[in-house]
Amino acid sequence: MHQLDLTPVIGTQNTLIISCVECNIVQPAEGVYVYTCLATALQDRDPSLAENIRYYIEGKGCTHIIIAGHLHCHALEYIRLSKSCDSTISSIKSYLNDLESENHLNLIHPNVRERFIAELNVIRQTNLLMQYDFIGKKVLSGGLSITGIMCLEQDNSIQKIYLNGMTMNTLVTNN
Ligand SMILES: [Zn+2]
Repeated sequence: MHQLDLTPVIGTQNTLIISCVECNIVQPAEGVYVYTCLATALQDRDPSLAENIRYYIEGKGCTHIIIAGHLHCHALEYIRLSKSCDSTISSIKSYLNDLESENHLNLIHPNVRERFIAELNVIRQTNLLMQYDFIGKKVLSGGLSITGIMCLEQDNSIQKIYLNGMTMNTLVTNN
């Protein structure tokens, strides 16, 4: 399992890290919590999701949420290629397909496409969180920040691709 040290991104605030089940996040300090899900894909149809996140913000005092995607995500690839009819898998697969077609990713080299889809997946999660009233309002008032990052496994480096509503992913930069 890949070890990820997010210390440089975390800072001093109480922080909730949302990451893929494949990543092993190094927990550097007290007040840092890790919430994992398959392919860093939050289940928006899960009624308990909002309350889980609210617990970290209101119960644990988190003022920072980091959504961490990573390169070579096997879970993401598994879901993309899955023929499963399971609603958890098929809902993720369906928005991944939408992201691919909206951004014409079929025209792009597979190696680059893999990175784009992983980045777009992270940004999709940030948008999903922002839709919750208790999160969106807190971000706008400056009481909470959301950072989207891509972990580039080759050299253990981290690229920031989203901050409080502003995207700076590779796809945006290239356009
Ligand atoms: Zn993964």
